[in-house]
Amino acid sequence: MNKQTLLNKAAPAALMALMLGTALAQDNPPPMVVERPTSAQWYEQGQEAVRAAQQLQPNTGKARNVILFVGDGMGVTTVTAARILEGQQRNADGESNRLSFEKFPYLAHSVTASANQQTSDSAPTATAMVTGIKTNEGALSVDQNIAKNESSAEVIAAASLQTILEQAEANGLSTGVVSTARITHATPAANYAHIGNRDWEGDALLPAGSTVKDIAAQLIDFPHGNGIDVALGGGRAFFMSNQSVDPEYPALKGMRNDNRNLIDQWLTQTHSAYVWDQAGFAAIDTAKTNHLLGLFEPLHMQYSVDQHKDGAGEPTLAAMTATAIEILQKNPDGFYLMVEAGRIDHAHHDGNAYRALTDTIALDEAVRMAQAMTSSDDTLIIVTADHSHTFTLAGYPSRGNPILGKAAINGVPQKDLSGKPYSTLGYANGPGYTGDGPRPDLSAIDTMHPDYLQEAAIPLEDETHGGEDVAIYADGPLAHLFHGTMEQNVIYHVMAAALGLNQQ
Ligand SMILES: [Zn+2]
Repeated sequence: MNKQTLLNKAAPAALMALMLGTALAQDNPPPMVVERPTSAQWYEQGQEAVRAAQQLQPNTGKARNVILFVGDGMGVTTVTAARILEGQQRNADGESNRLSFEKFPYLAHSVTASANQQTSDSAPTATAMVTGIKTNEGALSVDQNIAKNESSAEVIAAASLQTILEQAEANGLSTGVVSTARITHATPAANYAHIGNRDWEGDALLPAGSTVKDIAAQLIDFPHGNGIDVALGGGRAFFMSNQSVDPEYPALKGMRNDNRNLIDQWLTQTHSAYVWDQAGFAAIDTAKTNHLLGLFEPLHMQYSVDQHKDGAGEPTLAAMTATAIEILQKNPDGFYLMVEAGRIDHAHHDGNAYRALTDTIALDEAVRMAQAMTSSDDTLIIVTADHSHTFTLAGYPSRGNPILGKAAINGVPQKDLSGKPYSTLGYANGPGYTGDGPRPDLSAIDTMHPDYLQEAAIPLEDETHGGEDVAIYADGPLAHLFHGTMEQNVIYHVMAAALGLNQQ
């Protein structure tokens, strides 16, 4: 529906408000003035896209390396909004901008429903991607017959699903997990841990009498190949005993009750290093380091836009990706690396589009880094999300309207039925709910502020995941196997086929 139809459909009072709105100057930055293609250029660009598609040759070779990037909660709306924001930050035309992975030649839809959920959490979705099998809410690399609170190690072992990372280790490849969330959080953990309940990240969180090993201990005691080679992220507290003082926050202690110091155990491995701050990270000599553990926060790492405020400093997702690749690619037999932008999801849960989008841009930079350090001849790069969110991009804003601003036509904000402006970005539910009483008047509110929470229709403490499909972007060997609408667990099967695992 265009604006004219909208006006025709609007009730007289609303029409008055809309007309009044156009007469009042509103506090919204004007749309960006950018050079736009002529009609002839639009046509020629379409022709060029067809010529390029006709030239596309699938790479049917074997992959030496596979890199799986997961934007946690990075639905298609998030990608669209991030591409516009990234372009606008460079004073470019945001709508025609493309993030690095949006230029990949192959794309599919990923159906994210889990074995028992219509809208999924990150545990079964990560399990689907790294084991090839769908499972239940909360479950990490165990099958759907396991109860969430199953606490018997024997029962868990019998129901464990082999992961692509374990297979890579068993076949002599190097392996790594990188995340801006706790490294024991669902997405990275599905790669190396088997447990019914994703919340059992440290031993103190296990139920009494449990014989199951907690997630942090499973990372360090990893029994396959020569162990995980690189693990970088947050979650330090689950690796330190409750007697040890945190190096960055002296008021905090570790959270292990079992007297184990998993970091010391890691350091006894050959050519192993451990870092917890930016200075230590920057000093790593990747030529001499074969096993690197980096834990940069007691819990999650900072959002990318907040990293500069961190006392001890933190590496960016792109820097962690680069260091991981430098270490892993020393292995001539190749590597498997999972990289998660884990906090896109957290910002969305908080109803804060700004940090969700800037963390998506940080993921884009990490993908760009990986592309620069590898070749699509022998490296399969996949960029996808585990699930979406209730995030919307709507109204009829002009091309070039600031994506975080109010939905405005040529700088004049559009109005709701009560004559108040609204933002282009919003949520179907979450903490941004303001529905008790009249909508707030956003006229004098800076919706582009980093801490602004977009409005939500339904009041919830945490905004929820969304159940629609997410995209899979792929480049490299067997990337062309991603096509159409696919079940999420197919991602594993393409990665295994590309690496020549599971050959029958
Ligand atoms: Zn979430």
